Amino acid sequence: MASLFSQIIRRKCHFLKQYVRHSSAAAASPGLNFTFTEQQEEFRQLARKFAQEEMIPVAPHYDKTGEYPWPIIHKAFELGLINTHIPEKYGGLNLGILDACLMTEELAYACSGMQTAIEANSLGQMPVILSGNDEQKKKYLGRMTEEPLMCAYCVTEPGAGSDVAGIKTRAVKKGNNYVINGQKMWITNGGVANWYFLLARSDPDPKCSAGKAFTGFIIDADSPGITIGRKEWNMGQRASDTRGITFEDVVVPAENVLGAEGIGFKIAMGAFDKTRPPVAAGACGLAQRALDEATKYSFERKTMGKPICTHQAVAFMLADMAIGIESARLAMYKAAWEIDAGKRNTYFASIAKCLAGDVANKCAADAVQIFGGNGFNSDYPVEKLMRDAKIYQIYEGTAQIQRLIISREHLTKAKENM
Ligand SMILES: Cc1cc2nc3c(=O)[nH]c(=O)nc-3n(C[C@H](O)[C@H](O)[C@H](O)COP(=O)(O)OP(=O)(O)OC[C@H]3O[C@@H](n4cnc5c(N)ncnc54)[C@H](O)[C@@H]3O)c2cc1C
Repeated sequence: MASLFSQIIRRKCHFLKQYVRHSSAAAASPGLNFTFTEQQEEFRQLARKFAQEEMIPVAPHYDKTGEYPWPIIHKAFELGLINTHIPEKYGGLNLGILDACLMTEELAYACSGMQTAIEANSLGQMPVILSGNDEQKKKYLGRMTEEPLMCAYCVTEPGAGSDVAGIKTRAVKKGNNYVINGQKMWITNGGVANWYFLLARSDPDPKCSAGKAFTGFIIDADSPGITIGRKEWNMGQRASDTRGITFEDVVVPAENVLGAEGIGFKIAMGAFDKTRPPVAAGACGLAQRALDEATKYSFERKTMGKPICTHQAVAFMLADMAIGIESARLAMYKAAWEIDAGKRNTYFASIAKCLAGDVANKCAADAVQIFGGNGFNSDYPVEKLMRDAKIYQIYEGTAQIQRLIISREHLTKAKENM
């Protein structure tokens, strides 16, 4: 295995350069095309091999202990499977969202908890990639390409998740600094991050619109006044580190404001167009694992003298799982393709995230059903899948909030066409 990885690492630079050339060529090809480039396939295979050989064997350990999977993060960093969106100028690979989705699906197939830990870096980095100035990018993105560091996206609070405009963390300008006070909750990578993207209210006037009332900051995690809460013991994805974080008189230099004062809400929400397709990819990976595990078991397990896959009720459950996965995967590809093509993809990103989250939950629950009593037991892999799946309907906008966005987008378009 060690020699395989050193071979892969040696090949990485050459391969990635070729890869970027080929994917640009593919983007320019006319018409609808469901074929990935040779390089995209190779990249997917790299992630698949890593997932199969490195992640699957240790997934039960991290699920049971809740330890942070540092050895996996370090290897993923070496292979270029993390921080894929950072522009070349700052030492990154500058890969597209579709590229990231192909790899993410493979990682989540092995363990969506570890995949979430990896994906949280993209979420934390995205506001900086989209709105940071050159200095900020050099300082905060650059360091992430030099060593395996984590970052986090701090928006949710104990009193406000879906209602982002209801957050209470305050930023008050004092000279050339801002002073931050407030509490964040459910922050992925909260206990291991080197820096945070943080959204705070900078205009106290309750009448001020969300589009003007909030500011986005980059905050070094070792700033005085930050208290990191305990690791939350969640239903699933236990390899991922989720915490509350308290900010008490934390002084942040004005140079760490992203974009400008007052435009933080747009920056924080804008990141989702690029991060929801990979979340959908993660859900597809989990759903595919559920289908594969259930299929294998259905060949082996016999009742009434024959394998359970020959009972139509079981075979149709497998068919429904396949229908869901193929549909969700296409929606995810479409959402990723749209944003890579420079189009506004809010509608498709929400459809993909919502559908894939629902499909992952249905597939995981059906896989448990196909395993019967064994499915309910933690010695078999599907129980973990069912626990891990639930979060896909909650984080990065709940299933209800996705439907709110989709209906808004749909109705706006419908009105324009009337
Ligand atoms: C494991 C985990 C990791 C997370 N990681 C991060 C992170 O890294 N950074 C971060 O900032 N946040 C993170 N979150 C927070 C997550 O995004 C929120 O939990 C989520 O947005 C829901 O917010 P809430 O928990 O406050 O639920 P609420 O907003 O209180 O919602 C409760 C219920 O009401 C429904 N609901 C709310 N408003 C409406 C409405 N208008 N219409 C219809 N239904 C509605 C919701 O869909 C939900 O079913 C994470 C959460 C978890 C559990």
